[in-house]
Amino acid sequence: MLSRKDFIKLTTAASVVGLAGKLQSKTPLKKKAPVVVSTWDFGLAANETAWKVLNSGGSSLDAIVAGVAVPESDPKVNTVGLGGFPDRDGRVTLDACIMDEQINCGSVACLEYIVHPAAVARLVMEKTPHVMLTGEGALRFALEQGFKKENLLTPQAEAAWKEWLKKAEYEPQPNWELNHDTIGMLALDQQSRLAGVCTTSGMAWKMHGRVGDSPIIGAGLYVDGEVGGATCSGLGEEMIRIAASHSVVEAMRSGKSAQAACEAVIKRYYKRRGDKAHGKQVCLLAMDNAGNVGAFSLMPGFVYSITCEGKHEVRKAKFLLDK
Ligand code: ASP
Repeated sequence: MLSRKDFIKLTTAASVVGLAGKLQSKTPLKKKAPVVVSTWDFGLAANETAWKVLNSGGSSLDAIVAGVAVPESDPKVNTVGLGGFPDRDGRVTLDACIMDEQINCGSVACLEYIVHPAAVARLVMEKTPHVMLTGEGALRFALEQGFKKENLLTPQAEAAWKEWLKKAEYEPQPNWELNHDTIGMLALDQQSRLAGVCTTSGMAWKMHGRVGDSPIIGAGLYVDGEVGGATCSGLGEEMIRIAASHSVVEAMRSGKSAQAACEAVIKRYYKRRGDKAHGKQVCLLAMDNAGNVGAFSLMPGFVYSITCEGKHEVRKAKFLLDK
């Protein structure tokens, strides 16, 4: 039990901390808006589209949905939307989620036949009392909202699946060396509204029904306008177990920069997982609510696309382990 004296000491200390917090939150941050970042180099084409929306005064939500629609409808991108590699049964199942600065969020998981799961996730957020719809229910909702049912399995993806079937060796790891996985995107618009999205066909040759980190709020994506946002790519099972994006945002909330937050989360992940982390890839991308960006991965190879002041650039992220 605390004595009254102890309690007074504690509450005085707390009010000093509270005051420091208030002073800190009043310090004006240098705003870099608008800015958009996304995972991997194929994010560049998505950024270009998102940038057009941001630059003409559009909202971050409109920008990110338009941006990620580019790889979602590109049949050559085998990790997102149309042309995504299927699961081991030959079914293309998509995961996506979206979140805004007011912590509104929506998500779809294991959605088939719809090219733009990110746009469906947005409607889950805006038009339903729920956060997440899966499988048949997500498809029914998408069709009710006017989305068209399409075959997402391209001849090229089908051929790759048939090739895989010859041995049917199931390695539960994305081929991260190819550097072209999930697209996660964070954008800050001219009114400093932050939003994020994450969309993927998930791991190739996964078990039917497998859901990765990408549609899970807090794992593949987290946004809080009071602080910033984060998104991920890499082996979803690993990101889920550390609630990766939420962990990054909370590290920023405690005062770390976007870069330091990503590094702290990867280091803590590696410390907890040790040998079990070897050979796996975990990639984090973050942006604070002033537009400062950070990125870090467990293994080499992670790159991200950034667009600021109309300049589009691909940057290499720093990493923890050499191999
Ligand atoms: N995170 C995705 C998943 O596990 C895949 C990736 O980004 O590489 O489904």
